[in-house]
Amino acid sequence: MNAADADAATILVVEDDPSLRGALAATLKAAGYRPVPASTAAEGLRWFAHYRPDLVLLDLGLPDRDGLAVLREIRGRGETPVVVLSARDAESMKVEALDAGADDYVQKPFGVDELLARLRAGLRHGVQARGSAPVVRTGDLVIDMGRRMVTRAGEVVKLSPKEYDLLCELALNLGRVTSHADLLRAVWGSERADIQYLRVYIGQLRQRLGAERLVSTPGVGYSLV
Ligand code: CA
Repeated sequence: MNAADADAATILVVEDDPSLRGALAATLKAAGYRPVPASTAAEGLRWFAHYRPDLVLLDLGLPDRDGLAVLREIRGRGETPVVVLSARDAESMKVEALDAGADDYVQKPFGVDELLARLRAGLRHGVQARGSAPVVRTGDLVIDMGRRMVTRAGEVVKLSPKEYDLLCELALNLGRVTSHADLLRAVWGSERADIQYLRVYIGQLRQRLGAERLVSTPGVGYSLV
């Protein structure tokens, strides 16, 4: 158990396909989140009001209402991040979903790693938008994402915006390895960004936070411990 598990983020999964809904719930649970499954737009909106999730994973093709209508309704109630899930591959749908306020868009079929990376990015943005949120603690290190403040043994650690983003991404996956591609995508917006950037920024974080905190798994990624 670690501090992140104690505050597991609640993720509302609105998906009418029962096998995909079950698989998503199992994947999220295994990744340390608390999934709340819903099979229709009506059920999704009901659970949204009831559970106040940290993020919504929303299928666009629902039996009772268009997913975009659900998205607009959620947007009308606040800044909760929404990651849209859809089999529709039309570029216009993607644009429409993003215009309606979706934070991100994952196209079916998708890989688990890609999905989890999008969720972490969405949660991080949600945290910043809400200004309230997980405080991740490990040893004497405290990462307060609501206040964008990092302290080590009670002393404020000054970080550049990229260093901070990188640290948050690792903190949201505390104790687990985050892949190079996921870190590049989350912090630099493209998994094709130069991996050398990552080495440089990890080196800077090691200097500021202690080398033992940032563990490298060669050829795979990094973890915050
Ligand atoms: Ca569907």
